[in-house]
This record gives sequence, C-alpha cells and structure tokens, in this order.
Amino acid sequence: MPNEFASYSAVELCRLIESGNASSLDVVSSFLGEIESSNDDVNAMISVSENCLETAKAIDNKRSRGQSIGPLCGIPIAVKDGICTKGLRTTAGSKMLETFVPPYNATSVDRLELAGGIVLGKSNLDEFAMGGSTERSYFKPTLNPWSKDHVPGGSSGGSAACVAGTMAPLAIGSDTGGSIRQPASFCGITGLKPTYGRVSRYGLIAFASSLDQIGPMAWTAEDCALLLSAVAGYDPRDSTSANVATENYLDRIEDPISGLKLGVCTEHFGDGLDSEVEKAIREAIDVFADLGADVKTVSLPHSASAVATYYIVAPCEASSNLARYDGVRYTTRAVADSLEQMYSKTRAECFGTEVQNRIMLGTYALSSGYYDAYYLKASKVRRLIKNDFDAAFEEVDLIVGPTTPTPAFELGSNLSDPISMYLADIFTVSANLAGIPAISIPCGFSKSGLPIGLQLQGRPFAESTLLSAGHQFQKQTDFHQQRPSS
Ligand code: GLN
Repeated sequence: MPNEFASYSAVELCRLIESGNASSLDVVSSFLGEIESSNDDVNAMISVSENCLETAKAIDNKRSRGQSIGPLCGIPIAVKDGICTKGLRTTAGSKMLETFVPPYNATSVDRLELAGGIVLGKSNLDEFAMGGSTERSYFKPTLNPWSKDHVPGGSSGGSAACVAGTMAPLAIGSDTGGSIRQPASFCGITGLKPTYGRVSRYGLIAFASSLDQIGPMAWTAEDCALLLSAVAGYDPRDSTSANVATENYLDRIEDPISGLKLGVCTEHFGDGLDSEVEKAIREAIDVFADLGADVKTVSLPHSASAVATYYIVAPCEASSNLARYDGVRYTTRAVADSLEQMYSKTRAECFGTEVQNRIMLGTYALSSGYYDAYYLKASKVRRLIKNDFDAAFEEVDLIVGPTTPTPAFELGSNLSDPISMYLADIFTVSANLAGIPAISIPCGFSKSGLPIGLQLQGRPFAESTLLSAGHQFQKQTDFHQQRPSS
C-alpha cells in the first residue's frame, strides 16, 4: 500500500497528530510500510528500529491523556548511521563497525527524542562519511529515488533518499564538506548545514572534527527549522559546541525577503557549471529579486583553492580520528599472530579503499618534513577563504549560487575518478572551511527529471535568515512538492 502520508511535510504531519486527525502510530506505520516496499530497491536504510511502533503508541497515549507530546509530535526520523544511537547498531557504513551497538546516544539523538521525535532507523552513508555518492558504503550503494541509475549524492545519501523516497519525513545528516547539502540537492529536498558548533557533535563518529556538523534534511525549509530547533544548542559534552543562545527557528520563518541583500558570487558561474543548473539558479535568483531581495555581485577570490584545501585538512584530521580503530576496541578484529600484525590486518581488512587512501594521504601530509608544505599551508588558505566570506558579508546578507555543478551523476561513473568525485564538492566545502551555515533548496529539474539544488550561505548563526529565505522561496515555487514516481 502506498504511503498515505507521502505528500505531507513534517509540520503538516505534526498538525494532523496534534489535532487527533492521525496518530503517531498511523504515521510511523505508513513510513515503515514504505521502507518495507522500497528499501530493498533503494537501500537507503541500514537498520530499522525495533521499538519505533512502541514509542509511537506511548506518544499517542500521552496525547490522549492531554499531556504534551513535544514539538516533534511523534514523527519518525531517519538518523545517519554515523550518529550513535543507544542500543541500535551504528556502523558508519564500515565493516570496521559492522556489529557496533553504542552504549549511549549522540546528544542530537537525545534531543530529538526529548522533543517527541522517533528514531525510525539508521540511514546509509559513504564509509565514515568519506564520499559524495553513498557508493562507498560497506552496506552497498544507495540509489537515487528519482532515477535508480543515478547516485543520491553523499555522504548522507541514505538520509536524503529516505526523505525523497518517502521512507521518512525528516532525517538527520552530517556535513563535513557538503554531505547534507549535496545529497539534498541530488534528491530534490532541503538540507541545512548549521554553523560550526551550533549542533553538538557528541556521539557523531568523527571524520574531520574541525569541519563536521550535524543538521536537518526534509522536504521544506520549514521542516528543517522544526528539526533544527529540537537538536541545536550548547552541549558541555562537546567542547567545540557554541555557547550561543539557540532559538525556535520557526519563530522567524515568515520573515520577508524584501530588503535582504543577496550576493551572487562570480566564481560560482564559471567553467564546469552545467547549463541546466545555471539556468535554474538564474531563474531562482529572479524569484528572490521579485520578492524584494537586493541582488548584488560579490567575489570570493580564493574559491578556486577550496577543494584542494579541504582535501588536505579533512584527510589530516581523519587520519588522526580513525587511529582509534585498532581492532582492540569496538568490533571487528582480524585474526593474527602478533599484536602489530593484528593492528595492520584489522585496518587493511576492515577499512575500504577510499578510507585507506585518505588515512595515508593525511598521515603523509602531517608527517614531519611535509607538515609545513601541506597542512600548515592548507590552514593558511583556509583562513583566506574565511576572510573572503567576512568581506562578502560586509556587503550582503546571503550568498546565493548552485549547490553542485551538475545534477546527480550515474552510478559508477565517478568511482574510478576521484578528482571528478571531489569536484562535486566545489561549491559546498567552503562553508565548512569557514564554519558558516549553508542550506540547499530544490530549485528545478533537468530535462531528464533530475532535481537541481540552490545553495544559500549566511553569516555565522544566521540559520534563521537562511531558513526564512528558503521558506519564502518555497512559498513561490513547487519544486519541494514534487515526489518521485515509484
Ligand atoms: N564529499 C566530501 C568528502 O568526500 C564531503 C563528505 C562529507 O561532508 N562528509 O569528503
């Protein structure tokens, strides 16, 4: 039976549940039904929670007793499988953690449950979040619900495909260089990477700690605001979490666009930008202009160095973070004759090739003799990229451009060409290097029916502005209301 709630946004589902026109149990059951009928095909979920129906019943009972059920009202949520869930297997898409069951929840998971959200299951990802297509998962690739010959993007491709495939109305992803926004763009949904430090990283399996950030994925900006409000905020268990007051991001969702200064970045419209993507972005900019935005041109002169900088900084941090997988702790351990052999066999057998490549690259770039030439230099360029944004945000409130240079690519097409794969991140990595928030919103379709995404980047902690601008755009357009035909 098709999912009867497929066309609803999470905010609408909340209203249905709060008003008693649907129960949390109805909603959770429908999405579970969709997982049963579609997941074998799309492979978006690695594990499904065993107690989500019980939790839904408990929430319905609370509501019938007149108790508060929280802002997430018993709505099911897909959680990226690189985020720890107590008692529910968390693999990071790796053989290394194939049977790892965390003894604790990530803070973001605790918070979404506290707000009345229900963890529906754990969504697929590139191993340790390293990749842009979800083809690098030990648990097999996820397919794009809009076209099963195409990738859903990555690394949060499972989360994006869960939403796009109507297997979950909301999802949580993580973004180190674009892993929320790029799959959101490829799957025709909305995804927000918050400011570095806005959402606690406690319980997020670390890839590159100075870049990683957890954020919401959903059909609409309004739904992202709902989910972000639940998970954002200071956490003493994450020393990099920002002690900055959080807000209810729905409060300012209706803020108008008129008067906002929107910067169009010249560097985003050069060689390599697909013509259909360019057309959709230019049309979207016209929508913002019609809504009263003051459109200006800005420059981010160091953009061309962003991918190279990211692919030094991220592997360096990864090589350090992944040192903990030694076969002694966590799960998988290779059989060997000596301790040293056990370490190396475990790491050789249980990490995939992309993860091994990055560990080697990072170790090399951090080694004495090369540190100054690579890591230190990349850190300096990172600062220049941040300075470019600071200067641009003196002139404008938001920077608008494409999320990715092309729509989703075909499965397998970039697997043997890491440079092409890495270039899919060309517009997204800068926000992570600078620590600023950025959102991807659907803004069109290619002639072959693949979604196209628009990126808005904002000042630190300007999530409200990004979300309200996205919401106002979505009130004028219907790209976020399209659903793939199954
Ligand atoms: N595609 C990028 C990479 O492979 C970004 C990944 C991410 O944001 N987790 O590193």
